[in-house]
Amino acid sequence: MEKLLFFDYSALVIDVVLLGCMLLRKMTNGKLNKFFIFLAAMAVFTNTMDIIAVSFDKSGGLYIVEKMVYHSIYLLLRAFTSFFCMSYIIVLTDSWYKAARTNFKKLLLFLPVALAIILMVSNIFTHHVFYIDDAGVYTRGSLFFLLYVINGYYVIYSFYKVFINRKMLSLAKMFSIYAGSLLMICAAAVQFLMPHVLIDMFANATGLLFLFMMVQRPEEITDNETGLIKLSAYDPEIRRCFINKKRETLIMLKITNYTVIREMLSYKDSVCVKKKVADTIKAVMKELRLHGDVYYTESGNYRIVTDERNAQKINAAAQRLNDEYKESIEHNGMKLNLIMCICITVIPDDIDNIDALIALGEDLKNQYTGNVLFASEISSKVRYNIMRDMDVILENAVSADEFEIYYQPIFSLREERFNSAEALIRLKTEKYGYLSPEIFIPAAEKSGSIHRIGQIVMEKVCAFIGSEQFDELGLDYIEINLSPAQCMEDNLAKKLIAIMKKNNVMPDQVNLEITETASGEIQNTIMKNIRTLHRAGISLSLDDFGTGYSNMTRIAALPFRIIKLDKTFARIDSNPNMVIVLENVIKMIKALNMKIVVEGIETRELVEKFRELECEYIQGFYYSKPLPKEKFIEFLLQNNKKV
Ligand code: C2E
Ligand code: MG
Ligand code: MG
Repeated sequence: MEKLLFFDYSALVIDVVLLGCMLLRKMTNGKLNKFFIFLAAMAVFTNTMDIIAVSFDKSGGLYIVEKMVYHSIYLLLRAFTSFFCMSYIIVLTDSWYKAARTNFKKLLLFLPVALAIILMVSNIFTHHVFYIDDAGVYTRGSLFFLLYVINGYYVIYSFYKVFINRKMLSLAKMFSIYAGSLLMICAAAVQFLMPHVLIDMFANATGLLFLFMMVQRPEEITDNETGLIKLSAYDPEIRRCFINKKRETLIMLKITNYTVIREMLSYKDSVCVKKKVADTIKAVMKELRLHGDVYYTESGNYRIVTDERNAQKINAAAQRLNDEYKESIEHNGMKLNLIMCICITVIPDDIDNIDALIALGEDLKNQYTGNVLFASEISSKVRYNIMRDMDVILENAVSADEFEIYYQPIFSLREERFNSAEALIRLKTEKYGYLSPEIFIPAAEKSGSIHRIGQIVMEKVCAFIGSEQFDELGLDYIEINLSPAQCMEDNLAKKLIAIMKKNNVMPDQVNLEITETASGEIQNTIMKNIRTLHRAGISLSLDDFGTGYSNMTRIAALPFRIIKLDKTFARIDSNPNMVIVLENVIKMIKALNMKIVVEGIETRELVEKFRELECEYIQGFYYSKPLPKEKFIEFLLQNNKKV
């Protein structure tokens, strides 16, 4: 029967278009993109071989040698195609090293394709697979079916791989792979039974198209501005590493002053700068022969992911990039300083879960030293492990009432006594001992448990203020910290007022500390809360003043009674300009009729310095660390009496 070539022609068009799409749009980054390009190129080549072979068949001439050669190449490539399609699935699920871990597994992977090679080479002499008869007709041999068995084997193997790695693939992707494979199986069956219908390559091209649109989706993984791989592909890639317990090294790069650069330059220029950094990273990797994928994970963050074992090579690349950005870079006649923080992280050795890795990435800005950092040194594993368990820890702590309140006394220089104190929450866990609120409060804000925790703090502090013991201590009020998320709580004011009433606490016995972040994003809910609290006679402090973008206008607009100067002010040394700033800040706050509490005072000299600057209230380790309630009572009974 006459062979039908039009399926092959259509398949060739699809394959060329796919290949063209990938190359023209420069979707060449990352191993998955590269692999897909390889598959498409291979499809073009295989298809061409089929067309040439069949054209010889249809030509009517003998061409025995030509037909032998082209059919052999086609059939061999066809077997390779199934093998590489299966490999694509393994790359997609990043499980190569697992699939080829033992010799037996290697055999399962490579034996069938090796068999195909042996079959095709030996066919030159044995003609068991196919032969060209004396009339020049292509004829299948007795072992031809083995090629189909090999192809079928790889399809089933891919099915199995997809199934066992289903956690790493979305339902849509899984469905697409299964659907594409089924299509190929059906087509192979048709072609086996009806050799003149050359539908195999067409099914292969359609399968690739399916993969391109549903699985590969190059635009989903390529960042158009930098040409690197996008965050949306980085996240699943790293998750896969953790699931597979695969050892990878990450070089994390963060332009710590990205926001400033972004605001300073035009959009077009900032894109150019981002692209320049991407190109530099790629150039350094190429020069040092460091193989790996480079990702742009938004907001001035770059990640190099490599399974390179040579630590020296990795360190050298990080060092080179670090040196690169010590100098300013040229752009459009401008000299720009990119403050680049670079950190080498080995997963899972340094960090063994994705949340901790994200937390480390976010924290890089605070870790900048000018040198290449090592995750193993900057973040004890425990800290990030705690974060992973944090939701569970917090839930348990809330239900088992494990939170304690410590109190840190605040000294009034004018009255020469401790007139108030700050309530600071503490959590003691069985596994990690005491946890700092700096770790668990942000986690509680994310998980939403901050509201219940906040309520616990208010209850405990108000119960203390309402107790008889409190009257003997000579304290005017206690400061309670509120995090930004709490300030957004709709019924915060009502809740607090009810708790205070229950415990017979007067409004002026409580002072609420809110941070600059909360006061900076004055939303309606926060404003409503502040007004209700103010009307009820409860005053507010602005905590950590000087750490964020301190804005005097904003401060003036809100009814703060106290401004708490952050610990950083206590560290200003002899820089005369800073002293001038501080003097004037203090003057302005006083002119606004607000009190000043200086936090973080650890030495006598600092107390004297702030006395000279006419700051009245001092809080810090110099007087006392935060103390558990009983110790705090003891401390005040001794010290407030003495003065
Ligand atoms: P903050 O409100 O600024 O609290 C002051 C922090 O400085 C406390 O850390 C305190 O122990 C520490 N500190 C006090 N004096 C000194 C000193 O002389 N030197 C040094 N180096 N540090 C000093 P802590 O207790 O670890 O609390 C950290 C932060 O956690 C607090 O900062 C506050 O923002 C938050 N926090 C604490 N308790 C609560 C709470 O009950 N609710 C909420 N929402 N946040 C809380
Ligand atoms: Mg505070
Ligand atoms: Mg503070």
